[in-house]
Amino acid sequence: MNPRVLVLFRNDDLCAWSDPKHEERLLRLFDDYGVPVTMGVVPKVRGWKLDENKALLNLLEKAKANGHELALHGLEHDHHEFERLPLNEAAKRLTEGQNLMKSWFGEHAKTFIPPDNAWVAELLRILPDVGILTVSSGPPLLPLPEDFRATNCFAVDAVTRFLFAPFVKLLPKLAQMPLPHPVPVVVYFHSWEVKRSVHWQRMEKLLRLVKETEGIEAMTFRNAAERYPEAIKYWLRWRDEVTTQQWNELFHDRRFHRIRMLHRYWRDLTDKSVDWLEDWLADAYCAALTGDIEGMERTLNERSRLLFDGCNPLGIVRWLPILANAAVRKLNHRPPTKMEDAFQTITSPIVADIAVNSQSRITPHASRSIVYLSFDRNIIAEHAAMSSKALAKRG
Ligand SMILES: [Zn+2]
Repeated sequence: MNPRVLVLFRNDDLCAWSDPKHEERLLRLFDDYGVPVTMGVVPKVRGWKLDENKALLNLLEKAKANGHELALHGLEHDHHEFERLPLNEAAKRLTEGQNLMKSWFGEHAKTFIPPDNAWVAELLRILPDVGILTVSSGPPLLPLPEDFRATNCFAVDAVTRFLFAPFVKLLPKLAQMPLPHPVPVVVYFHSWEVKRSVHWQRMEKLLRLVKETEGIEAMTFRNAAERYPEAIKYWLRWRDEVTTQQWNELFHDRRFHRIRMLHRYWRDLTDKSVDWLEDWLADAYCAALTGDIEGMERTLNERSRLLFDGCNPLGIVRWLPILANAAVRKLNHRPPTKMEDAFQTITSPIVADIAVNSQSRITPHASRSIVYLSFDRNIIAEHAAMSSKALAKRG
């Protein structure tokens, strides 16, 4: 029997600076449940190639042999590199990235994850030329051109990150819906988001659910595109200019944003469920995932009234435990929400300074944010020292 929900786990930002021990622990968890994960590999980070981290390279080779997928996650993870650069420069970077992937892993990546989830639809014209079959981005979603079917390329976008959606509630709900085709759901995360024991428990709970729930099947992007091409194309049919814009507006509606953030903070604290919050979010995400604009709007307007209406005392009372927790959390420790944050949390200002300076020498975009990806303090410190030496030499 065909599954009803295709779950695609996507771990972004594997690079020279990743902590091999942490990544290994994470992979072991996926292996324990026999769930494949697609890993977004950044071939170079500020000049440091992935193969300078031998332990990580070996780990990724082993992962690939075990059925996990290695995707291309940009070339250098430059800020919005595939959104702001001209097409010929993007093509050059894709080719370089693919050549590196081939030299390390014996073949080109089949899946492309644009850094920062930022890209332009024109890329669809060149992606197949560099061997890319599928692209996976995230909100805001791009409208897809009418001749999309002719491009021979699939898009399987993420709608939410691991801790922002109640996947444990959402996936079974989707599996119960009468859907004409299996719906792909991307669960995307970064290794550094799985840090505290409550995150590990959450991940394990989700993996167990995916493994054990009938109608839900986990697979890599490559497998999904090869096995369910019709389903993937079907769920893209609504992505025209107008509908996609409506979708983006609703998705970024501040009520939806607040609820997502609350859930994220809540999940940072405890694995206890908060039914009203999770129900609300699960409904909104079901609608978002299936391109049901009316459903998104309805959830926002009708269900929000109960939560946000100032005249309704329930509205405030219901928020209190979560607000209190979020506030405490925020005061004690601010969890990184972006890689820029992650970089700042784990490195000293001096290191950041070196990085910014080295960056501004080669580019006029002085203000563009600098993105460092890894979570191994020692490796970063070592690289930063090397970087500052190299800069001093250059004068
Ligand atoms: Zn990334």
